[in-house]
Amino acid sequence: MSGRRSALDICRVPAALLVAAIHCSPLLSYSAGADFVLTRVAARVAVPFFFMLTGYFVLGDVGKLASALKKTALVYLAAMLLYLPLNIYSGQLPGLRELLLDGTFYHLWYFPAVLTGLVIAWGLSKLRGGVWLAAALYLLGLPGDSWFGLVRGLPWLAGVYEAIGYTRNGLFFAPLFLLMGSRARPGRGAEGLALAAAFAAMLAEALVLRRLGWQKHDSMYIMLPCVMYFLFRLLLGLRGAAPGWCADFSLLFYLLHPWCIVLVRGFARLAGLWGLLVENSLGHYLAVCALTAAATAALLPLLRRLRPVRAYPKARAWVEVDASALRRNAEALMGLLPDGCELMPVLKCGAYGHGAVKSARVLEGCGVRAFAVACAAEGVELRRAGVRGTILVLGWTAPENFPCLARYGLTQTVTELPYAEALSAFGRDVDVHIKVDTGMHRLGLDAEDIAAAERIFELPHLRVTGMYTHLCVSDSLAPEARSFTGAQSKRFFALAEELRRRGHDVGRLHTQASYGLLNYPDARCAYVRAGIALYGFKSAEADDAAVWPPLKPALSLKARVAQVRELPEGAGLGYGLAYTTPRPSRIAVLPIGYGDGCPRDCAGAWALVNGKRAPVVGRVCMDQLFIDVTDCGPVQSGDCIQLDIAALAEASGTITNEILSRLGPRLPRLWT
Ligand SMILES: *Cc1c(COP(=O)(O)O)cnc(C)c1O
Repeated sequence: MSGRRSALDICRVPAALLVAAIHCSPLLSYSAGADFVLTRVAARVAVPFFFMLTGYFVLGDVGKLASALKKTALVYLAAMLLYLPLNIYSGQLPGLRELLLDGTFYHLWYFPAVLTGLVIAWGLSKLRGGVWLAAALYLLGLPGDSWFGLVRGLPWLAGVYEAIGYTRNGLFFAPLFLLMGSRARPGRGAEGLALAAAFAAMLAEALVLRRLGWQKHDSMYIMLPCVMYFLFRLLLGLRGAAPGWCADFSLLFYLLHPWCIVLVRGFARLAGLWGLLVENSLGHYLAVCALTAAATAALLPLLRRLRPVRAYPKARAWVEVDASALRRNAEALMGLLPDGCELMPVLKCGAYGHGAVKSARVLEGCGVRAFAVACAAEGVELRRAGVRGTILVLGWTAPENFPCLARYGLTQTVTELPYAEALSAFGRDVDVHIKVDTGMHRLGLDAEDIAAAERIFELPHLRVTGMYTHLCVSDSLAPEARSFTGAQSKRFFALAEELRRRGHDVGRLHTQASYGLLNYPDARCAYVRAGIALYGFKSAEADDAAVWPPLKPALSLKARVAQVRELPEGAGLGYGLAYTTPRPSRIAVLPIGYGDGCPRDCAGAWALVNGKRAPVVGRVCMDQLFIDVTDCGPVQSGDCIQLDIAALAEASGTITNEILSRLGPRLPRLWT
């Protein structure tokens, strides 16, 4: 693995070594103070580091969360069985408290802490200020740990903390680090200094607490979250390559080292090496590490075999989405909006192929509070992923799906009176926007039908929060288009005005999609329903608009080269031999086809190969297509190639909107 996360992965190994140090106290034979600094202060970053890693990789995604819970429970179960013999030998059989809180062996508290911590952190992540609640839990936990001296003078409170036992658990300790991990961002430079300062402060805190005799345990310090914050930012900011075995190695090492402590003691007794391997703390630690590392290395292949083998996402063809391009596009469009008007990104059809949930998250980060989707199911998907704010369903929702509207708080478009009556008769309160047909003759209430509109306002279970229309020639600035668009707007605002005059609150009005915003600015609108421009594409290359803010495609379509072949002049190619080489040609076969959304007939489209255009030739197959790389320099099997979306659209006589929305589900979506 390489890239941003590699430093994180490498650090799993020293973190596991530090955990073993906590349990061996390597410097104790030489200096109690030095050992305190190493094992009771410095090594205390190790477990929070593992919590943050888990939060970083897992918390943002319910699916990943569920599989992490399952995996952790399984590992915990295996670890319990592994240590059962030692429980039996020592006569300390675990009870319910050990099982659910403290762990069935001293190092195993980590697993129940991850399990409960993840559930709590996930709940907190849904709340505004959830991180601060987790921080409050952490502070509450401090007197149960290093800060016990704070409550010792208060018998009642001290009693409570005595009863709680360890606060270094899934309730007080883990949630904060899990949440911090899920929100961690790479640092920009000064992290090293900040980390050193935070660590110095933590060290001072620990030494003072030790001097005061306040510590009951020594896992939790006030400064520890600060240290972790800067450490994680620092590591995230580093690039490099980590060997693939780091995660498995650190997990096994963590699991096995207490067994190895027992084995080293047993061996030392038998071999008469007690002084060297047990009494000497450093000798002991090194022996334990060596044995654990050997056992881990021996078991690694076994663990790898247990692990599910997943398909590598960049093995065939895939979609890459640049989150920062999407963010910048959103900001550029927001810059064009008049006062009081908000961007309502259109996330229908998987956000035009980009992935709706991920796109919504990025856009929420830009301050977007309202989204549009085509159907109720798309709205449900966003809500289930935690997207808040307004979600407007632009299309018709079948009565069978009315429960979804109410349950998930979706705003439904109503297009005619009978439909509105049916929705109201459903009997649950639903927010609606009235869609007005002003000339497109697709969905909508006739703009002249004031009576029907008024009746909708009077329906008991509908709350009208907006009205809109759709402009159908706003992509053109030709004179006929201008006058038609003008007439559409006029009809729409006349209806809204009349309804207002009759005492109805018409809510938020909107008329413009991407090209409406670029060609027909309108200060009366409260939303702009932007789709294609937000994703950084023109619908067609030839499109011209009154303004073009600096937009950049957020999506790129990529494929590997399957095979390169040299063909003589006059060779036929593919189904129907639809293409004949006009000259000796070098043809590359790409493993992407119409099954992935490349139109079957798109001769003239091209891919970018070594910075040169390689035209698509022949008929596109379901899973493969041909490009002519004769003039593109060296190309070989396995190379990554980018297909041009705009050219695919143009060559097949359609618009980029269609190509994007038809990119198949077989293409992994990889966000950068
Ligand atoms: C798809 C759609 C949009 C977005 O259109 P773009 O041209 O992609 O910006 C806006 N409004 C409605 C009603 C739509 O169906």
